[in-house]
Amino acid sequence: MIIKRLVVGPLEENAYIIGDEETKQAIVVDPGDEADRIMDEIKTLGLEVSAIVLTHAHFDHIGGAGDVKKETGANILIHKEDVETYNVASDQAAIWGYALDNLPKPDGFLDEGDEVKVGKLKFIVMHTPGHSSGGICLYGEGIVLTGDTIFQGSVGRTDFPGGSIEKLKESFKRLLKLPDETRVFSGHGPETTIGKEKTGNFFVNELL
Ligand SMILES: [Zn+2]
Ligand SMILES: [Zn+2]
Repeated sequence: MIIKRLVVGPLEENAYIIGDEETKQAIVVDPGDEADRIMDEIKTLGLEVSAIVLTHAHFDHIGGAGDVKKETGANILIHKEDVETYNVASDQAAIWGYALDNLPKPDGFLDEGDEVKVGKLKFIVMHTPGHSSGGICLYGEGIVLTGDTIFQGSVGRTDFPGGSIEKLKESFKRLLKLPDETRVFSGHGPETTIGKEKTGNFFVNELL
């Protein structure tokens, strides 16, 4: 499996290219910015992108989605409950002082239990609200892509519209039930594992 992380944009967001070595099929997860760099990498790796998956609709995760779609023709997929956030992402970006290019409408929706196939690789969608109402994680092949639900040592903020600390606790608990050796790829910061987060994440104490 090809896992390529690119740190993009002013908020140092992790964009991921997940590819199947055998079939050269790939998805791009959270192309937040710098679509040209993401596309260079895709071309270098010789991959064909079948979908653009957004873990949630905050502007730092979606800013490059339009350009990646333009280049690859791949569909933009997101959870329904984050569409509202998606639609106001440019305004949100402006508040932070950044300009987002026109984003195309999402092409389809992902929900709890849906399967995302990448060549011979298979990932299951987990709906993990809390940081946003339509936040999702992709779990499969020994890894989980978590967006801003969980980071190494911490979790995503819950003070944005649609955020909920109670929901985040539930989502966090679900993630901790995954096998300890599961590699965790977050929306910001370095790679970790579920096992490490069970002991090293401050949010564990919030569950007591
Ligand atoms: Zn976020
Ligand atoms: Zn983020």
